[in-house]
Amino acid sequence: MLLSVIIPMLNEEEICLKTLDRLETALAGVEHELLFVDDGSTDRTRELLLGAIPEGSANRVISFSRNFGHQAAFSAGLDQAKGDAVAIIDGDLQDPPELILDMLAKWREGWQVVYAQRRARAGEGLFKKLTAAGFYRSLRLFTSVDIPVDTGDFRLMDRCVVDALKALPERSRFLRGLVPWVGFKQTGILYDRAERTAGETKYPLKKMLKLAGDGIASFSSVPLHLSLWLGLAAAGVSGLLALWAVVSKFALGTAIPGWTSLLIAVVFLGGIQLITIGVVGEYVGRIYDEVKQRPLYILRGEDGKRS
Ligand code: UDP
Ligand code: MG
Repeated sequence: MLLSVIIPMLNEEEICLKTLDRLETALAGVEHELLFVDDGSTDRTRELLLGAIPEGSANRVISFSRNFGHQAAFSAGLDQAKGDAVAIIDGDLQDPPELILDMLAKWREGWQVVYAQRRARAGEGLFKKLTAAGFYRSLRLFTSVDIPVDTGDFRLMDRCVVDALKALPERSRFLRGLVPWVGFKQTGILYDRAERTAGETKYPLKKMLKLAGDGIASFSSVPLHLSLWLGLAAAGVSGLLALWAVVSKFALGTAIPGWTSLLIAVVFLGGIQLITIGVVGEYVGRIYDEVKQRPLYILRGEDGKRS
């Protein structure tokens, strides 16, 4: 039985060797391969890792040509993993590597996906905690897929789940939603998320918003309906305004000539435009992204076999 562990790394020179060490210690009794995905680091992460992995080791460094993002790093890892079970874990030791053993135990019991659910988050600010809690809950509200709350990417998957994920044709990869979507027997284990040991978060607000947007857009059409409802509401209000304009013209006689018809036309058309542009825009945006058929990531490809 071979276990693959995928570890995305973006500028983690302060932690990457510690992560390697701790994973090796934790997994000493299990046949494993560690796949470090260097997501376009501009520091020495890649060199340090390559230097620490001896020739002939099953461990590898997969390097991207630039920063393609956390989710793309998982895709690259999944594409290259050979294991019967594949775990993914953050590279900053916020997710305890030792938990992979508990996940393996569950996997041996027959579970095909074992995800780690955060009970507490140490060392993260109130803002991150609140936004994260809000995100996981609104995602559940918006989507029909059963996405577990407070669950990041830290999980272990059986080979059959990995193959199902790899077979999905879409570009937009929100793993936290896709894994529940593919089904199979899934279970969670609770853990306390540790503090980052060194370095700082590689998830600034902009990336967090993008991830949240991707998650909601690829698993829900509620925002699409929202624009429809907004448009309908605007059109409804325009109806009331029209009524008022007509009354003020004919019953009260207070309107400036020409104002009535102008107001009705402008407000009504504004409403209709909101509806149609909103709906079409959403569809076109999604279709455009998928149609481009760009690869999810590009490998640096200059280290030969060790990529
Ligand atoms: N990461 C990555 N590419 C990115 C952003 C992050 O590979 O564009 C990696 C990062 O090196 C870390 C993991 O993804 O190993 C989680 O990122 P981080 O700890 O910064 O996120 P947070 O825990 O703050 O949400
Ligand atoms: Mg982190």
